[in-house]
Amino acid sequence: MESQQEKLKQHFAGRVTTQARVVLEAWQQLTQANWNDDHWLSELQHATDKLGRYAARFEMLDHLSIAQSLNAALKKRILDGGRMDGASIHELEAGFLKLAGLTGRKSDRSHESGKRTYLRPPVYICLNDAESSRRAVKQLQFFGFRGESFQDTASLLRAVYSRRPEALLIDTDFTGPRNEGITLTKTLQARLETPLPVLFVCDRESDIDTRLESSRAGGEEFIQGSSNTSVIIEKIDQYTRGNTLEPYRILVIDDSKAQATFMENTLKKAGMEVKAITDPMIALEAFQQFEPEIIIMDMYMPGCTGTELAKVLRQDDKFMGVPIIYLSAEDDINKQLHAMSLGGDDFLVKPINPRHLVATIHNRGRRARSLNALLVRDSLTGLYNHTHILNLMNSTILACNRKELPLCVAMMDIDHFKNVNDTYGHPMGDRVLKSLSLFLKQRLRRSDHIGRYGGEEFMLVLPGTRIKDGQRIMEEILNRFRELGHPHEQGELKVTFSCGVAELNGPEEDSKVLSQRADEALYRAKHGGRNRVCT
Ligand code: GH3
Ligand code: MG
Ligand code: MG
Repeated sequence: MESQQEKLKQHFAGRVTTQARVVLEAWQQLTQANWNDDHWLSELQHATDKLGRYAARFEMLDHLSIAQSLNAALKKRILDGGRMDGASIHELEAGFLKLAGLTGRKSDRSHESGKRTYLRPPVYICLNDAESSRRAVKQLQFFGFRGESFQDTASLLRAVYSRRPEALLIDTDFTGPRNEGITLTKTLQARLETPLPVLFVCDRESDIDTRLESSRAGGEEFIQGSSNTSVIIEKIDQYTRGNTLEPYRILVIDDSKAQATFMENTLKKAGMEVKAITDPMIALEAFQQFEPEIIIMDMYMPGCTGTELAKVLRQDDKFMGVPIIYLSAEDDINKQLHAMSLGGDDFLVKPINPRHLVATIHNRGRRARSLNALLVRDSLTGLYNHTHILNLMNSTILACNRKELPLCVAMMDIDHFKNVNDTYGHPMGDRVLKSLSLFLKQRLRRSDHIGRYGGEEFMLVLPGTRIKDGQRIMEEILNRFRELGHPHEQGELKVTFSCGVAELNGPEEDSKVLSQRADEALYRAKHGGRNRVCT
Protein backbone atom coordinates (compact mmCIF):
# COMPACT_ATOMS: atom_id res chain seq x y z
CA MET A 1 0.00 0.00 0.00
CA GLU A 2 2.59 2.47 1.14
CA SER A 3 4.87 1.85 -1.80
CA GLN A 4 1.96 2.18 -4.22
CA GLN A 5 1.20 5.56 -2.79
CA GLU A 6 4.84 6.53 -2.98
CA LYS A 7 4.91 5.56 -6.65
CA LEU A 8 1.82 7.61 -7.39
CA LYS A 9 3.32 10.58 -5.64
CA GLN A 10 6.51 10.31 -7.64
CA HIS A 11 4.52 10.09 -10.81
CA PHE A 12 2.67 13.30 -10.03
CA ALA A 13 5.81 15.02 -8.91
CA GLY A 14 7.13 14.27 -12.37
CA ARG A 15 4.19 16.02 -13.94
CA VAL A 16 4.66 19.17 -11.89
CA THR A 17 8.37 19.15 -12.71
CA THR A 18 7.66 18.84 -16.40
CA GLN A 19 5.32 21.80 -16.21
CA ALA A 20 7.95 23.78 -14.33
CA ARG A 21 10.32 23.14 -17.23
CA VAL A 22 7.72 24.53 -19.65
CA VAL A 23 7.55 27.69 -17.55
CA LEU A 24 11.33 28.01 -17.43
CA GLU A 25 11.60 27.50 -21.15
CA ALA A 26 9.16 30.35 -21.79
CA TRP A 27 11.08 32.53 -19.37
CA GLN A 28 14.33 31.80 -21.14
CA GLN A 29 12.82 32.68 -24.52
CA LEU A 30 11.49 35.94 -23.09
CA THR A 31 14.80 36.88 -21.53
CA GLN A 32 16.50 36.37 -24.86
CA ALA A 33 13.88 38.62 -26.48
CA ASN A 34 14.33 41.25 -23.75
CA TRP A 35 10.72 40.73 -22.71
CA ASN A 36 9.46 42.05 -26.05
CA ASP A 37 7.67 39.03 -27.37
CA ASP A 38 3.90 38.76 -27.06
CA HIS A 39 3.73 35.14 -28.11
CA TRP A 40 6.10 33.96 -25.38
CA LEU A 41 4.58 36.29 -22.85
CA SER A 42 1.16 34.71 -23.27
CA GLU A 43 2.78 31.26 -23.28
CA LEU A 44 4.41 32.14 -20.00
CA GLN A 45 1.16 33.26 -18.43
CA HIS A 46 -0.59 30.17 -19.58
CA ALA A 47 2.19 27.85 -18.38
CA THR A 48 2.52 29.50 -14.98
CA ASP A 49 -1.20 29.29 -14.44
CA LYS A 50 -1.17 25.60 -15.24
CA LEU A 51 1.80 25.02 -12.96
CA GLY A 52 -0.19 26.57 -10.12
CA ARG A 53 -3.13 24.26 -10.73
CA TYR A 54 -0.97 21.14 -10.96
CA ALA A 55 1.02 22.02 -7.88
CA ALA A 56 -2.18 22.60 -5.90
CA ARG A 57 -3.72 19.34 -7.04
CA PHE A 58 -0.64 17.27 -6.25
CA GLU A 59 0.16 19.14 -3.06
CA MET A 60 3.60 20.33 -4.03
CA LEU A 61 3.68 23.37 -1.85
CA ASP A 62 7.03 24.85 -2.85
CA HIS A 63 6.02 24.91 -6.49
CA LEU A 64 2.60 26.21 -5.57
CA SER A 65 3.87 29.24 -3.70
CA ILE A 66 6.27 30.17 -6.47
CA ALA A 67 3.60 29.75 -9.14
CA GLN A 68 1.24 31.94 -7.13
CA SER A 69 3.67 34.78 -6.73
CA LEU A 70 4.67 34.58 -10.40
CA ASN A 71 1.05 34.66 -11.44
CA ALA A 72 0.39 37.67 -9.27
CA ALA A 73 3.40 39.54 -10.67
CA LEU A 74 2.39 38.74 -14.26
CA LYS A 75 -1.20 39.87 -13.67
CA LYS A 76 -0.02 43.11 -12.15
CA ARG A 77 1.94 43.76 -15.29
CA ILE A 78 -1.21 43.45 -17.39
CA LEU A 79 -3.01 45.90 -15.13
CA ASP A 80 -0.10 48.31 -15.53
CA GLY A 81 -0.85 48.39 -19.25
CA GLY A 82 1.73 45.88 -20.37
CA ARG A 83 4.81 47.85 -19.32
CA MET A 84 7.60 45.91 -17.75
CA ASP A 85 10.11 47.89 -15.70
CA GLY A 86 13.41 46.74 -14.30
CA ALA A 87 12.09 46.23 -10.79
CA SER A 88 9.26 43.92 -11.79
CA ILE A 89 11.52 41.89 -14.05
CA HIS A 90 13.85 41.57 -11.11
CA GLU A 91 11.02 40.35 -8.92
CA LEU A 92 9.93 37.81 -11.50
CA GLU A 93 13.46 36.62 -11.99
CA ALA A 94 13.78 35.75 -8.33
CA GLY A 95 10.79 33.44 -8.69
CA PHE A 96 12.11 31.79 -11.83
CA LEU A 97 15.50 31.14 -10.31
CA LYS A 98 13.86 29.57 -7.28
CA LEU A 99 11.81 27.37 -9.56
CA ALA A 100 14.95 26.46 -11.48
CA GLY A 101 16.57 25.55 -8.18
CA LEU A 102 13.73 23.18 -7.32
CA THR A 103 13.66 21.67 -10.77
CA GLY A 104 17.40 21.45 -11.18
CA ARG A 105 18.02 19.61 -7.96
CA LYS A 106 15.94 16.63 -8.98
CA SER A 107 17.92 16.01 -12.11
CA ASP A 108 21.18 16.54 -10.23
CA ARG A 109 20.22 13.75 -7.94
CA SER A 110 19.36 11.33 -10.69
CA HIS A 111 22.80 12.09 -12.14
CA GLU A 112 24.42 11.08 -8.90
CA SER A 113 22.60 7.80 -8.65
CA GLY A 114 24.22 6.92 -11.97
CA LYS A 115 27.51 6.91 -10.04
CA ARG A 116 29.69 9.01 -12.29
CA THR A 117 28.67 7.34 -15.49
CA TYR A 118 27.42 10.78 -16.44
CA LEU A 119 29.67 13.66 -17.23
CA ARG A 120 30.44 15.68 -14.16
CA PRO A 121 28.81 19.11 -14.12
CA PRO A 122 30.89 21.98 -15.51
CA VAL A 123 32.78 24.56 -13.49
CA TYR A 124 31.72 28.09 -14.43
CA ILE A 125 34.52 30.58 -14.74
CA CYS A 126 34.03 34.33 -14.65
CA LEU A 127 37.32 36.20 -14.84
CA ASN A 128 37.59 39.74 -16.09
CA ASP A 129 40.62 38.87 -18.13
CA ALA A 130 39.40 36.78 -21.07
CA GLU A 131 42.89 35.37 -21.61
CA SER A 132 43.15 34.02 -18.05
CA SER A 133 39.66 32.62 -18.40
CA ARG A 134 40.59 30.78 -21.56
CA ARG A 135 43.76 29.43 -20.01
CA ALA A 136 41.92 28.20 -16.92
CA VAL A 137 39.38 26.34 -19.07
CA LYS A 138 42.15 24.70 -21.05
CA GLN A 139 44.10 23.66 -17.97
CA LEU A 140 40.99 22.33 -16.26
CA GLN A 141 40.42 20.10 -19.24
CA PHE A 142 43.76 18.42 -18.66
CA PHE A 143 42.56 17.42 -15.23
CA GLY A 144 39.22 16.04 -16.33
CA PHE A 145 37.10 19.06 -15.42
CA ARG A 146 34.84 20.81 -17.85
CA GLY A 147 35.17 24.54 -17.56
CA GLU A 148 32.92 27.12 -19.19
CA SER A 149 33.96 30.72 -19.32
CA PHE A 150 31.59 33.70 -19.10
CA GLN A 151 32.22 37.35 -19.80
CA ASP A 152 28.87 38.91 -18.90
CA THR A 153 26.24 38.63 -16.20
CA ALA A 154 23.26 37.72 -18.36
CA SER A 155 24.80 34.64 -19.91
CA LEU A 156 26.10 33.50 -16.52
CA LEU A 157 22.60 33.74 -15.04
CA ARG A 158 21.11 31.85 -17.94
CA ALA A 159 23.70 29.12 -17.62
CA VAL A 160 23.29 28.71 -13.86
CA TYR A 161 19.57 28.46 -14.37
CA SER A 162 19.73 25.82 -17.08
CA ARG A 163 22.57 23.78 -15.60
CA ARG A 164 23.81 23.93 -12.07
CA PRO A 165 27.62 23.95 -12.11
CA GLU A 166 29.83 21.90 -9.83
CA ALA A 167 31.40 25.14 -8.66
CA LEU A 168 31.58 28.80 -9.61
CA LEU A 169 34.89 30.61 -9.93
CA ILE A 170 34.38 34.33 -10.08
CA ASP A 171 36.40 37.53 -9.92
CA THR A 172 35.46 39.67 -6.91
CA ASP A 173 35.19 42.58 -9.35
CA PHE A 174 33.54 40.68 -12.19
CA THR A 175 32.25 42.98 -14.97
CA GLY A 176 32.44 46.07 -12.94
CA PRO A 177 33.58 48.26 -10.12
CA ARG A 178 34.89 47.04 -6.83
CA ASN A 179 33.18 43.91 -5.42
CA GLU A 180 30.61 43.79 -8.20
CA GLY A 181 31.25 40.05 -8.62
CA ILE A 182 30.54 39.49 -4.94
CA THR A 183 27.29 41.39 -5.16
CA LEU A 184 26.26 39.38 -8.19
CA THR A 185 27.07 36.14 -6.37
CA LYS A 186 25.00 37.20 -3.37
CA THR A 187 21.99 37.85 -5.55
CA LEU A 188 22.46 34.53 -7.25
CA GLN A 189 22.79 32.61 -3.98
CA ALA A 190 19.72 34.24 -2.47
CA ARG A 191 17.62 32.90 -5.31
CA LEU A 192 18.90 29.34 -5.27
CA GLU A 193 17.45 26.65 -3.08
CA THR A 194 20.88 25.12 -2.39
CA PRO A 195 23.79 27.53 -2.44
CA LEU A 196 26.52 27.08 -5.03
CA PRO A 197 30.09 26.38 -3.97
CA VAL A 198 31.90 29.58 -4.92
CA LEU A 199 35.60 30.34 -5.22
CA PHE A 200 36.54 33.99 -5.41
CA VAL A 201 39.55 35.28 -7.25
CA CYS A 202 40.91 38.73 -6.55
CA ASP A 203 43.34 40.49 -8.85
CA ARG A 204 43.98 43.59 -6.81
CA GLU A 205 45.23 43.72 -3.28
CA SER A 206 42.33 42.50 -1.17
CA ASP A 207 41.22 44.19 2.03
CA ILE A 208 39.27 42.85 4.97
CA ASP A 209 36.05 44.26 3.57
CA THR A 210 36.37 42.27 0.35
CA ARG A 211 37.33 39.13 2.26
CA LEU A 212 34.36 39.45 4.60
CA GLU A 213 31.89 40.16 1.84
CA SER A 214 33.11 37.23 -0.22
CA SER A 215 32.74 34.89 2.71
CA ARG A 216 29.24 36.23 3.36
CA ALA A 217 28.36 35.55 -0.26
CA GLY A 218 29.12 31.88 0.33
CA GLY A 219 32.73 31.99 -0.86
CA GLU A 220 34.48 28.79 0.16
CA GLU A 221 37.88 29.88 -1.05
CA PHE A 222 39.63 33.15 -1.69
CA ILE A 223 42.40 33.07 -4.27
CA GLN A 224 44.77 35.98 -4.67
CA GLY A 225 45.57 36.52 -8.34
CA SER A 226 43.92 34.96 -11.37
CA SER A 227 47.12 34.20 -13.27
CA ASN A 228 48.10 31.27 -11.09
CA THR A 229 46.01 28.59 -12.75
CA SER A 230 47.59 25.71 -10.87
CA VAL A 231 46.45 27.15 -7.54
CA ILE A 232 43.00 27.67 -9.00
CA ILE A 233 42.75 24.09 -10.22
CA GLU A 234 44.04 22.72 -6.96
CA LYS A 235 41.40 24.61 -5.02
CA ILE A 236 38.63 23.52 -7.36
CA ASP A 237 39.76 19.93 -6.99
CA GLN A 238 39.96 20.13 -3.21
CA TYR A 239 36.61 21.72 -2.93
CA THR A 240 34.63 19.58 -5.32
CA ARG A 241 36.22 16.38 -4.11
CA GLY A 242 35.72 16.84 -0.40
CA ASN A 243 32.19 18.03 -0.44
CA THR A 244 30.03 16.83 -3.19
CA LEU A 245 31.07 13.57 -4.65
CA GLU A 246 31.77 10.96 -2.05
CA PRO A 247 28.77 10.01 0.10
CA TYR A 248 29.37 9.26 3.78
CA ARG A 249 29.24 5.58 4.70
CA ILE A 250 27.09 5.03 7.76
CA LEU A 251 26.49 1.82 9.68
CA VAL A 252 23.28 1.69 11.72
CA ILE A 253 22.93 -0.93 14.45
CA ASP A 254 19.51 -1.10 16.04
CA ASP A 255 17.53 -4.15 17.10
CA SER A 256 14.25 -2.46 16.20
CA LYS A 257 13.60 -3.08 12.54
CA ALA A 258 11.33 -0.04 12.29
CA GLN A 259 13.89 2.29 13.84
CA ALA A 260 16.69 0.90 11.68
CA THR A 261 14.64 1.35 8.53
CA PHE A 262 13.66 4.88 9.47
CA MET A 263 17.30 5.86 9.95
CA GLU A 264 18.33 4.11 6.79
CA ASN A 265 15.72 5.92 4.71
CA THR A 266 16.35 9.31 6.25
CA LEU A 267 20.10 9.14 5.70
CA LYS A 268 19.80 7.67 2.22
CA LYS A 269 17.51 10.50 1.26
CA ALA A 270 20.25 12.88 2.35
CA GLY A 271 22.57 11.19 -0.14
CA MET A 272 24.52 8.95 2.24
CA GLU A 273 25.46 5.32 1.82
CA VAL A 274 23.83 3.35 4.61
CA LYS A 275 23.93 -0.20 5.89
CA ALA A 276 21.50 -1.09 8.65
CA ILE A 277 21.74 -4.24 10.76
CA THR A 278 19.45 -5.41 13.53
CA ASP A 279 21.70 -8.02 15.12
CA PRO A 280 24.62 -6.62 17.14
CA MET A 281 26.32 -10.02 16.99
CA ILE A 282 27.20 -9.51 13.31
CA ALA A 283 28.47 -5.96 13.88
CA LEU A 284 32.16 -6.88 13.66
CA GLU A 285 31.64 -8.57 10.35
CA ALA A 286 29.62 -5.67 8.95
CA PHE A 287 32.33 -3.37 10.17
CA GLN A 288 35.10 -5.23 8.36
CA GLN A 289 33.21 -5.45 5.11
CA PHE A 290 31.43 -2.12 4.92
CA GLU A 291 34.18 -0.01 6.55
CA PRO A 292 31.83 2.70 7.78
CA GLU A 293 32.99 6.23 8.52
CA ILE A 294 30.39 6.68 11.24
CA ILE A 295 28.46 4.23 13.40
CA ILE A 296 25.07 4.93 14.88
CA MET A 297 24.01 2.40 17.47
CA ASP A 298 21.19 1.78 19.82
CA MET A 299 22.08 1.82 23.52
CA TYR A 300 20.04 -1.21 24.49
CA MET A 301 19.93 -4.31 22.36
CA PRO A 302 19.42 -7.96 23.15
CA GLY A 303 22.71 -9.85 23.45
CA CYS A 304 24.83 -6.84 24.32
CA THR A 305 24.56 -3.14 25.04
CA GLY A 306 25.83 -0.38 22.80
CA THR A 307 28.59 0.53 25.23
CA GLU A 308 29.85 -3.04 25.34
CA LEU A 309 29.95 -3.20 21.59
CA ALA A 310 31.75 0.15 21.39
CA LYS A 311 34.43 -1.12 23.76
CA VAL A 312 35.03 -4.15 21.58
CA LEU A 313 35.24 -2.04 18.43
CA ARG A 314 37.65 0.40 20.03
CA GLN A 315 40.04 -2.44 20.80
CA ASP A 316 40.84 -2.73 17.12
CA ASP A 317 43.41 -0.13 16.03
CA LYS A 318 41.95 0.09 12.60
CA PHE A 319 38.57 1.26 13.91
CA MET A 320 39.88 3.45 16.68
CA GLY A 321 39.01 6.68 14.93
CA VAL A 322 35.50 5.92 13.69
CA PRO A 323 32.94 8.08 15.52
CA ILE A 324 30.19 6.26 17.39
CA ILE A 325 26.87 7.95 17.97
CA TYR A 326 24.48 6.43 20.48
CA LEU A 327 20.80 6.37 20.06
CA SER A 328 18.41 5.91 22.90
CA ALA A 329 15.27 7.04 24.62
CA GLU A 330 17.53 7.60 27.57
CA ASP A 331 17.31 11.16 28.78
CA ASP A 332 19.26 10.53 31.94
CA ILE A 333 22.29 12.78 31.52
CA ASN A 334 24.49 10.65 33.80
CA LYS A 335 23.95 7.53 31.78
CA GLN A 336 24.70 9.44 28.63
CA LEU A 337 27.94 10.74 30.06
CA HIS A 338 28.89 7.27 31.14
CA ALA A 339 28.23 5.94 27.65
CA MET A 340 30.42 8.65 26.14
CA SER A 341 33.23 7.88 28.55
CA LEU A 342 33.24 4.33 27.23
CA GLY A 343 34.10 5.29 23.71
CA GLY A 344 31.07 7.11 22.31
CA ASP A 345 31.29 10.46 20.58
CA ASP A 346 27.77 11.76 20.61
CA PHE A 347 24.27 11.05 21.75
CA LEU A 348 20.95 11.33 19.99
CA VAL A 349 17.71 11.01 21.91
CA LYS A 350 14.69 9.23 20.42
CA PRO A 351 12.40 10.15 18.82
CA ILE A 352 14.82 11.69 16.40
CA ASN A 353 14.09 14.67 14.24
CA PRO A 354 15.30 13.77 10.72
CA ARG A 355 16.83 17.20 10.09
CA HIS A 356 18.74 17.03 13.32
CA LEU A 357 19.94 13.55 12.48
CA VAL A 358 21.21 14.53 9.05
CA ALA A 359 22.92 17.66 10.38
CA THR A 360 24.66 15.73 13.17
CA ILE A 361 25.92 13.08 10.79
CA HIS A 362 27.16 15.69 8.33
CA ASN A 363 29.15 17.51 10.96
CA ARG A 364 30.60 14.32 12.37
CA GLY A 365 31.42 13.00 8.93
CA ARG A 366 33.19 16.12 7.80
CA ARG A 367 35.27 16.24 10.95
CA ALA A 368 36.08 12.54 10.83
CA ARG A 369 37.26 12.92 7.28
CA SER A 370 39.52 15.84 7.92
CA LEU A 371 41.05 14.20 11.01
CA ASN A 372 41.49 10.95 9.17
CA ALA A 373 43.12 12.79 6.28
CA LEU A 374 45.79 14.12 8.61
CA LEU A 375 46.73 10.59 9.59
CA VAL A 376 46.81 8.89 6.23
CA ARG A 377 47.56 11.60 3.71
CA ASP A 378 50.72 13.30 2.59
CA SER A 379 50.45 17.01 3.30
CA LEU A 380 52.03 18.27 0.07
CA THR A 381 50.02 16.28 -2.43
CA GLY A 382 46.98 15.07 -0.49
CA LEU A 383 47.73 11.53 -1.68
CA TYR A 384 48.00 8.59 0.72
CA ASN A 385 51.28 8.49 2.58
CA HIS A 386 53.83 5.69 2.45
CA THR A 387 52.41 3.71 5.38
CA HIS A 388 48.85 3.98 4.28
CA ILE A 389 49.37 3.01 0.67
CA LEU A 390 51.18 -0.10 1.86
CA ASN A 391 48.26 -0.93 4.19
CA LEU A 392 45.87 -0.42 1.32
CA MET A 393 47.94 -2.63 -0.93
CA ASN A 394 47.78 -5.39 1.69
CA SER A 395 44.02 -5.19 2.15
CA THR A 396 43.44 -4.92 -1.59
CA ILE A 397 45.53 -8.05 -2.20
CA LEU A 398 43.36 -9.93 0.29
CA ALA A 399 40.14 -8.62 -1.22
CA CYS A 400 41.18 -9.41 -4.79
CA ASN A 401 42.25 -12.92 -3.83
CA ARG A 402 38.93 -13.47 -2.11
CA LYS A 403 36.92 -12.23 -5.06
CA GLU A 404 39.27 -13.84 -7.57
CA LEU A 405 39.95 -10.52 -9.23
CA PRO A 406 43.19 -9.52 -10.93
CA LEU A 407 45.28 -6.73 -9.40
CA CYS A 408 48.09 -4.51 -10.65
CA VAL A 409 50.51 -2.30 -8.81
CA ALA A 410 52.42 0.52 -10.51
CA MET A 411 55.52 2.36 -9.31
CA MET A 412 56.28 5.73 -10.87
CA ASP A 413 59.27 8.00 -10.60
CA ILE A 414 59.60 11.44 -12.17
CA ASP A 415 62.50 11.72 -14.62
CA HIS A 416 65.44 14.04 -13.89
CA PHE A 417 63.49 15.66 -11.13
CA LYS A 418 66.62 16.93 -9.49
CA ASN A 419 67.14 19.13 -12.56
CA VAL A 420 63.72 20.68 -12.10
CA ASN A 421 64.63 21.70 -8.56
CA ASP A 422 68.10 22.85 -9.51
CA THR A 423 66.99 24.89 -12.51
CA TYR A 424 63.67 26.35 -11.41
CA GLY A 425 63.82 26.08 -7.64
CA HIS A 426 62.30 23.82 -5.03
CA PRO A 427 58.85 25.49 -5.03
CA MET A 428 58.57 24.77 -8.75
CA GLY A 429 59.41 21.13 -8.01
CA ASP A 430 56.63 21.06 -5.43
CA ARG A 431 54.24 22.47 -8.02
CA VAL A 432 55.08 19.66 -10.42
CA LEU A 433 54.54 17.05 -7.70
CA LYS A 434 51.13 18.53 -6.94
CA SER A 435 50.20 18.67 -10.60
CA LEU A 436 51.08 15.04 -11.14
CA SER A 437 49.11 14.06 -8.04
CA LEU A 438 46.06 15.90 -9.22
CA PHE A 439 46.48 14.43 -12.64
CA LEU A 440 46.51 10.90 -11.24
CA LYS A 441 43.49 11.57 -9.04
CA GLN A 442 41.49 12.77 -12.00
CA ARG A 443 42.55 10.08 -14.43
CA LEU A 444 42.21 6.98 -12.28
CA ARG A 445 39.06 5.29 -11.08
CA ARG A 446 37.61 5.86 -7.68
CA SER A 447 38.43 2.31 -6.64
CA ASP A 448 42.14 2.78 -7.42
CA HIS A 449 44.49 3.85 -4.64
CA ILE A 450 47.18 6.44 -5.15
CA GLY A 451 50.04 7.00 -2.76
CA ARG A 452 53.15 9.12 -2.55
CA TYR A 453 55.69 6.43 -1.88
CA GLY A 454 58.59 8.79 -1.32
CA GLY A 455 59.99 12.11 -2.64
CA GLU A 456 59.09 11.98 -6.33
CA GLU A 457 57.95 8.37 -6.37
CA PHE A 458 54.34 7.30 -6.51
CA MET A 459 52.62 3.99 -5.99
CA LEU A 460 49.28 3.02 -7.52
CA VAL A 461 47.13 0.06 -6.53
CA LEU A 462 44.71 -0.90 -9.31
CA PRO A 463 42.21 -3.61 -8.32
CA GLY A 464 40.36 -5.51 -11.04
CA THR A 465 43.08 -4.69 -13.57
CA ARG A 466 45.12 -7.10 -15.73
CA ILE A 467 48.70 -6.33 -16.67
CA LYS A 468 47.81 -5.42 -20.28
CA ASP A 469 45.23 -2.90 -19.10
CA GLY A 470 47.50 -1.62 -16.36
CA GLN A 471 50.17 -0.93 -18.93
CA ARG A 472 47.73 0.74 -21.31
CA ILE A 473 46.32 2.98 -18.56
CA MET A 474 49.76 4.07 -17.43
CA GLU A 475 50.87 4.75 -20.98
CA GLU A 476 47.82 6.90 -21.55
CA ILE A 477 48.54 8.84 -18.39
CA LEU A 478 52.18 9.30 -19.41
CA ASN A 479 51.20 10.45 -22.90
CA ARG A 480 48.86 13.07 -21.51
CA PHE A 481 51.04 14.18 -18.64
CA ARG A 482 54.10 14.93 -20.74
CA GLU A 483 51.95 17.25 -22.88
CA LEU A 484 51.02 19.32 -19.88
CA GLY A 485 52.91 22.58 -19.63
CA HIS A 486 53.92 23.69 -16.14
CA PRO A 487 54.12 27.46 -16.29
CA HIS A 488 57.12 29.23 -14.78
CA GLU A 489 58.44 32.76 -15.06
CA GLN A 490 60.26 32.28 -18.35
CA GLY A 491 57.72 30.02 -20.02
CA GLU A 492 56.60 26.46 -19.71
CA LEU A 493 58.27 23.32 -18.49
CA LYS A 494 57.43 19.78 -19.56
CA VAL A 495 58.13 16.77 -17.40
CA THR A 496 58.08 13.00 -17.97
CA PHE A 497 58.09 10.00 -15.67
CA SER A 498 59.06 6.33 -15.79
CA CYS A 499 56.77 3.60 -14.62
CA GLY A 500 56.86 -0.11 -13.76
CA VAL A 501 53.73 -2.24 -13.58
CA ALA A 502 53.36 -5.70 -12.03
CA GLU A 503 50.42 -8.06 -11.67
CA LEU A 504 49.55 -10.22 -8.68
CA ASN A 505 50.28 -13.87 -9.46
CA GLY A 506 48.14 -15.66 -6.89
CA PRO A 507 47.28 -15.95 -3.21
CA GLU A 508 50.80 -16.89 -2.12
CA GLU A 509 52.18 -13.45 -3.06
CA ASP A 510 52.25 -10.62 -0.56
CA SER A 511 52.71 -6.87 -0.89
CA LYS A 512 56.47 -7.14 -0.54
CA VAL A 513 56.87 -9.47 -3.49
CA LEU A 514 54.48 -7.48 -5.62
CA SER A 515 55.99 -4.07 -4.96
CA GLN A 516 59.45 -5.48 -5.54
CA ARG A 517 58.44 -6.70 -8.99
CA ALA A 518 56.93 -3.33 -9.82
CA ASP A 519 60.18 -1.73 -8.65
CA GLU A 520 62.22 -3.96 -10.93
CA ALA A 521 60.05 -2.97 -13.89
CA LEU A 522 60.55 0.68 -12.97
CA TYR A 523 64.30 0.12 -12.87
CA ARG A 524 64.15 -1.27 -16.39
CA ALA A 525 62.10 1.69 -17.59
CA LYS A 526 64.73 4.06 -16.20
CA HIS A 527 67.59 2.17 -17.78
CA GLY A 528 65.77 1.75 -21.07
CA GLY A 529 65.86 5.53 -21.49
CA ARG A 530 63.15 6.86 -19.09
CA ASN A 531 59.83 8.39 -20.23
CA ARG A 532 58.23 4.93 -20.63
CA VAL A 533 56.20 2.18 -18.99
CA CYS A 534 57.66 -1.32 -18.46
CA THR A 535 55.97 -4.43 -17.07
P1 GH3 B 1 65.86 9.96 -12.34
O1 GH3 B 1 65.33 10.28 -13.70
O2 GH3 B 1 66.93 8.96 -12.35
O3 GH3 B 1 64.74 9.57 -11.43
O4 GH3 B 1 66.51 11.31 -11.79
P2 GH3 B 1 66.00 12.21 -10.62
O5 GH3 B 1 66.72 13.49 -10.64
O6 GH3 B 1 64.51 12.32 -10.71
O7 GH3 B 1 66.31 11.33 -9.35
P3 GH3 B 1 67.03 11.63 -7.99
O8 GH3 B 1 66.61 10.51 -7.08
O9 GH3 B 1 68.50 11.83 -8.20
O10 GH3 B 1 66.47 13.00 -7.44
C1 GH3 B 1 65.21 13.10 -6.87
C2 GH3 B 1 65.04 14.53 -6.45
O11 GH3 B 1 63.71 14.75 -5.96
C3 GH3 B 1 65.96 14.94 -5.36
C4 GH3 B 1 65.08 15.63 -4.35
O12 GH3 B 1 65.61 16.85 -3.96
C5 GH3 B 1 63.78 15.81 -5.05
N1 GH3 B 1 62.65 15.79 -4.15
C6 GH3 B 1 62.24 14.81 -3.33
N2 GH3 B 1 61.15 15.18 -2.62
C7 GH3 B 1 60.84 16.45 -3.01
C8 GH3 B 1 59.83 17.38 -2.65
O13 GH3 B 1 58.96 17.13 -1.79
N3 GH3 B 1 59.81 18.57 -3.27
C9 GH3 B 1 60.77 18.89 -4.21
N4 GH3 B 1 60.68 20.08 -4.80
N5 GH3 B 1 61.72 18.04 -4.57
C10 GH3 B 1 61.80 16.83 -3.98
MG1 MG C 1 63.70 8.84 -7.27
MG1 MG D 1 63.32 10.60 -10.38
